[in-house]
Amino acid sequence: MRYAILADIHSNLVAFQAVLRDIESKGGIDEIWCLGDVVGYGPEPHACIELLCQYKHICVAGNHDWAAISKLDISDFNPYAAQAILWTRQQLAAGDMNYLQGLPQRIKRGDFTLVHGSPRHPIWEYLEPGWLSTKDVEDNFNQFDTKFCLVGHSHKPIVFQQDSLKHYSVTKIPSEIRLSFESKRLIINPGGVGQPRDGDPRASYAIYDGEAQMVYYYRVNYDISATQQKMMEYNLPSPLTERLSYGY
Ligand code: ZN
Repeated sequence: MRYAILADIHSNLVAFQAVLRDIESKGGIDEIWCLGDVVGYGPEPHACIELLCQYKHICVAGNHDWAAISKLDISDFNPYAAQAILWTRQQLAAGDMNYLQGLPQRIKRGDFTLVHGSPRHPIWEYLEPGWLSTKDVEDNFNQFDTKFCLVGHSHKPIVFQQDSLKHYSVTKIPSEIRLSFESKRLIINPGGVGQPRDGDPRASYAIYDGEAQMVYYYRVNYDISATQQKMMEYNLPSPLTERLSYGY
């Protein structure tokens, strides 16, 4: 079985469609593993939920998903994110809200645990180097019992590693991770589909091939200006529109 690992689609339908086309061109997948924040920031929340639901998939809840259904207060959001959430709330159909309401915080599948933010705080914590002490990283590795954990939220494609001596390190995600040879436990972030933040504006995602025991990491060009055009039409905050050009 092959699985697409998608995080932070963020209502960016054009990016999501480009990733799905790329997946098809690589032989397709059997199931999507979605790491949350399907909505927020971007211009097409309803269409993104609708498209995701056309696929066999599992999905965990992100902070924007919860904020969009008022399950999370937006007072902790930055003003642009909050404005986009208020707009998103008006765009969701009853079925969309039910869908978001039903998303769990954590899913376990075989060797993998799926969360949006971190194993310790699935909705809110950012697993970003520089923000975390070694103790924080260690705590997070203690908060899941599978060998691997998949996270989103930071929109940065990186891998945290715990070796057998409980030493920790973090690297940019490599283009291939050979899980069968991997003695380390890993926390893998595939980067963001709909709002990359590592300085590369292309959509970011990964495919897990269960038979080959490989994770492949990919970047995909999409029509950024098409998404920006829709954001301008809907008067979404211009910093959110502009950042898509730079991938930050
Ligand atoms: Zn996000």
